[in-house]
Amino acid sequence: MSTFMGSVKIGPVWYEVHEVPGLRNPVNDQQLNGRISENEAVIQLEAAMCEQAKRVTLWHEILHAIGMHSGHEFSEEQLEALAYGIMDALQANVSLSVAYQVSTNKPD
Ligand SMILES: [Zn+2]
Repeated sequence: MSTFMGSVKIGPVWYEVHEVPGLRNPVNDQQLNGRISENEAVIQLEAAMCEQAKRVTLWHEILHAIGMHSGHEFSEEQLEALAYGIMDALQANVSLSVAYQVSTNKPD
């Protein structure tokens, strides 16, 4: 069972974001914090994480998509550094946070 959290637009694609309890990699059954499926346009986040961890993980998955859409595969270490860096910049700069919140509202 998953919970729909909303949508994020990455490039031309709207991705649905869902919280999933006990999120696992379907290939190797490894426990995951987040997962993105370009084919389904879905991002899944582990439901048991705290809100801050969910936000960092959402950025991690968004950056995966940006890399894939642009033909640049980032390493997991690069994605973690970028995700934490973006969260830090958003928290330190309220105007960036407001712009971020507005841009994540999918038009009706
Ligand atoms: Zn990753």
